[in-house]
Amino acid sequence: MALTRVVLLGPPGAGKGTQAKQIIDKLGLVHLSTGDILRDEVSHETELGKTAKGFMDRGELVPDQLIIDMIRGRIEAAEAGFLLDGFPRTTAQADALSEFATIDVVLNITLPREEVVRRLTGRRVCRGCGKIYNLTFNLAEGENACADCGGELYQRDDDKAEVIENRYDVYEDSTTPLIDFYDKLGVLRTLDGSAGSECVFSEIIDILTT
Ligand code: AMP
Repeated sequence: MALTRVVLLGPPGAGKGTQAKQIIDKLGLVHLSTGDILRDEVSHETELGKTAKGFMDRGELVPDQLIIDMIRGRIEAAEAGFLLDGFPRTTAQADALSEFATIDVVLNITLPREEVVRRLTGRRVCRGCGKIYNLTFNLAEGENACADCGGELYQRDDDKAEVIENRYDVYEDSTTPLIDFYDKLGVLRTLDGSAGSECVFSEIIDILTT
């Protein structure tokens, strides 16, 4: 039976967003990225966006209750299955999630700190379609248009060097306890994020479809 209620876990830069886009194209799950939803709130200058922006710019976590209230209805509406990307990030969020959804599998993509820093420094995102590029893999220095839609490529404010180290610290302190949490529930699968993205993708598809 296919696994359709999926969580992507891992440090920033491990490839969650890149994998998520390919997984939803292939399996038709609803992609729920709390980071993307928050960036949208920020760009529309909503109340939530205004509150979240300071936390995001510093690489800190937005308070749990705001995130839970933001994502809960979207998860409940995704009846055919969902792919959670960037949620949960704390044990309080994981506890809340377990009250309104059962998770089939947690895909834990690992990546060491030095590689996180290298990847995030080189990451660029398309303003038009959200496609993720990286100067290390698929983008030439000075190239600033999306190959798919022609949109402008930009560097996220929180991908600047001074914020990246803090984001990794926050991941280690607040999010790594979830590895144990989901391991104890018997749903954790760990993948090596330093393998190429095609390799990680094919492992993920094997896990989700067999
Ligand atoms: P991401 O795009 O997943 O790296 O998220 C960007 C930023 O959004 C994070 O550094 C946090 O400030 C905020 N954020 C995203 N998801 C969450 C979450 N589940 N809990 C708290 N803050 C979050």
